Amino acid sequence: MNEEILYKARQTVVEAGLTLARSSLTVGTYGNISCRIDEELIAITPSGRDYQQLGPEDIVITDMEGNLLGIPGVLGNRDCDSNTGGTDSAESKEKGGTPVVTLRPSSELPLHLEIYKNFPEARAIVHTHSIYASALAAAHRDLPPIIEDLAQITGGAVRCTEYTIAGTKELGQKAVEAMEGGRSAALLANHGAVCWGRNMKEALAAAQILEKGAQIYYVARSFGTPFPLNEKTVATLHDFYLNHYSKRQQGEE
Ligand code: 13P
Ligand code: ZN
Repeated sequence: MNEEILYKARQTVVEAGLTLARSSLTVGTYGNISCRIDEELIAITPSGRDYQQLGPEDIVITDMEGNLLGIPGVLGNRDCDSNTGGTDSAESKEKGGTPVVTLRPSSELPLHLEIYKNFPEARAIVHTHSIYASALAAAHRDLPPIIEDLAQITGGAVRCTEYTIAGTKELGQKAVEAMEGGRSAALLANHGAVCWGRNMKEALAAAQILEKGAQIYYVARSFGTPFPLNEKTVATLHDFYLNHYSKRQQGEE
């Protein structure tokens, strides 16, 4: 694997982590971010680490079966240590008298892998614990397509899964089910939200617009009954976003 491509992918995840940390989309080390490097590899945040402290060397590379590849970073002296094997292979080691810790991939690696396997267009994933989206998830409620930018980017109602414990493949399967029909976001019951995008900017925007949509839904309910956009309008808006508006955002149209 080309070192430059690996570095770029890791740097993309680091920068997205900083955006997440600065936003109100998560608190502390919670949530996680990944991007697809190619058909075989992904780059994902390490488990339980502060986004503000991450460097590119801390971003874990795995294959599509969750096997760690390459050389995950080492905390402290930023030295590197070879490490291959399954997701549980991280371990503490002594190096020159200094204890170093090889980093584990996010505990939500199975969730990310399920989404990548089922939605080939997904090239980046952002999992958040944002307040209004999580509040809907706590109530096991879907977010209807009540506002245009939400419909554009997510492709319709953001459905809530039934409760499934964090960190399991089953959670990934439930999220994929909730995203069926071309949706790019799901609410994870009693937990948070997950969004994918065709690139990292799009995945982050989906997470932000989902949170804004959930907040608008809450406020709109205090005024009366919010009116969801109908299916045909949602399809038109989503198509416009995918084929035109997102291109304008990239300066391509
Ligand atoms: P990680 O720190 O292992 O990524 O887990 C955070 C989280 O949000 C679990 O659902
Ligand atoms: Zn979580």
